[in-house]
Amino acid sequence: MDTDICAGCKYSLKNFLSMCENDDRLKEFLKVHGVIDCADVIICPKCNKPCKFFERHNKYVCNTTTVVVNARNRRVRQRCGFIQTSRKNTFFSGSKKSVQEICQFVAFWLVGFKQEQLELETEWSRRTVVDWVSFCREVCFIIVRDHTEPLGGPGKIVEIDEAKFGRRKYNRGRIIEGQWIFGGIERESKKVFMVPVADRSQDTLLEIIKEWILPETTVMSDCWRSYDCLENEGFQHLKVNHSLNFVDPDTGAHTQNVERLWRDIRFDIPRFGRRSDNFVYYLAEHYFHRKFPKFTDRFHEFFKYIAEVYPPTDTQHEGEGTSS
Ligand SMILES: [Zn+2]
Ligand SMILES: [Zn+2]
Repeated sequence: MDTDICAGCKYSLKNFLSMCENDDRLKEFLKVHGVIDCADVIICPKCNKPCKFFERHNKYVCNTTTVVVNARNRRVRQRCGFIQTSRKNTFFSGSKKSVQEICQFVAFWLVGFKQEQLELETEWSRRTVVDWVSFCREVCFIIVRDHTEPLGGPGKIVEIDEAKFGRRKYNRGRIIEGQWIFGGIERESKKVFMVPVADRSQDTLLEIIKEWILPETTVMSDCWRSYDCLENEGFQHLKVNHSLNFVDPDTGAHTQNVERLWRDIRFDIPRFGRRSDNFVYYLAEHYFHRKFPKFTDRFHEFFKYIAEVYPPTDTQHEGEGTSS
């Protein structure tokens, strides 16, 4: 039997945390969001027989016995002993933290708690918090990578711009070079794309523009020379000369939405985290927050993301599949 998948639910932080306190309710929540698969029985891969789930140990165990011939040529019964934790292949596998603790952590992270608050609320070590923040960001990253669609099209306006992040001087004199990000925002829908780039050359930017912006879009940008080719590439191109004004007096062109996007990102990304190699993950987290600005939507959406990135073990349940 397929479990009903949640079509949409709303939680406040408080309600979510109190739900986590109750094992049955939490299990149900994870089940209807596809994060765990709580089939009562799975099929043992060794002997193709059903394994029982032992709630107390959170494990499936195969108790099938077979008759074998031992070294002394005697026929003896041998238990299969196949064991599988119910967490296998899920978001929770490989951690010593309980499912409840991890869900609580995710909740704090979803409402925007940063490192220090996360350590305080979870009482986890700094290292563990850093790891789990990365796991959550990775989920965002994979979803963004797989789900973002190109912007624009005829009659639509996309503002584009580049910005450099993470360039700062530390006390010890170490300079972090920073990372160029190229991005665009569709004016009406506020949909965005953001891509880290090695440089701002025409070749680099044009390739990304072609990937992320549909033909016949009206593209608005500043006067950076790499954009001069856009007219010839099937876009309507309007420029605003920022050394003169913010809005072009003749065409009305401006890039205020994309500049606002950069401001939001700078605000959202903690200073200590501006290492360029991690930047793409920060962007993905930011992207998730933008996409679901209401906290109440984030629980439902993020746990569905988790299920997509970490689908639980694809097991055959009793009564299905090969029972011949
Ligand atoms: Zn839901
Ligand atoms: Zn078995």
